[in-house]
Amino acid sequence: MEFSSKLLENAVREMSQLPGIGKRTALRLVLHLLKQPESQTRQLTAALNSLKEEVKFCRNCHNISDVSLCEICASPKREKELVCVVEDIRDVMAIENTSQYKGLYHVLGGKISPMEGIGPQDLTIASLVDKVRQGEISELIFALSSTMEGDTTNFYIYKQLEGLEVKMSTIARGIAVGDELEYADEVTLGRSILNRIPFEGSLKSS
Ligand SMILES: [Zn+2]
Repeated sequence: MEFSSKLLENAVREMSQLPGIGKRTALRLVLHLLKQPESQTRQLTAALNSLKEEVKFCRNCHNISDVSLCEICASPKREKELVCVVEDIRDVMAIENTSQYKGLYHVLGGKISPMEGIGPQDLTIASLVDKVRQGEISELIFALSSTMEGDTTNFYIYKQLEGLEVKMSTIARGIAVGDELEYADEVTLGRSILNRIPFEGSLKSS
């Protein structure tokens, strides 16, 4: 792509770093921003800057939060001994939308993926194991997407917790393998949490 302006080229290059944004889309977005009033682009950059600088992660579940203990963890209405293990905030939002789940979450921050160079130490697995060791959790529900990375991550955690006093289950899938949780419809997702199956049972069937 040939640019008549270095400034334009730089903006397009930065924009095209975003996932799912190719050079053409990046150019379209940058040209769109250029047409907006300055106040609007300023609001956008300010929001992104403060997001990056001020964002916090809940000290208990690691979900993105504006305070040190998120609303879900702080709520007296939630069952604190029931913890649903998810990849990121999108899964928390999807499960919250079902209104079927009253426990807490543990946000891993990703899945183990040797291909992408993501190992267990890059995720919040150690803190999960700690919580189980301290006897704070009676049941863990694995709700990672049923991809190879999701299965690997579930199994790794399962091995780490072997011998500890905790029930482990996995959400029952009406969801096709490889589907991401956030795309599952609310009824299916809600039902799959209520109809969860023991994790060891899920190992034998696969
Ligand atoms: Zn929390």
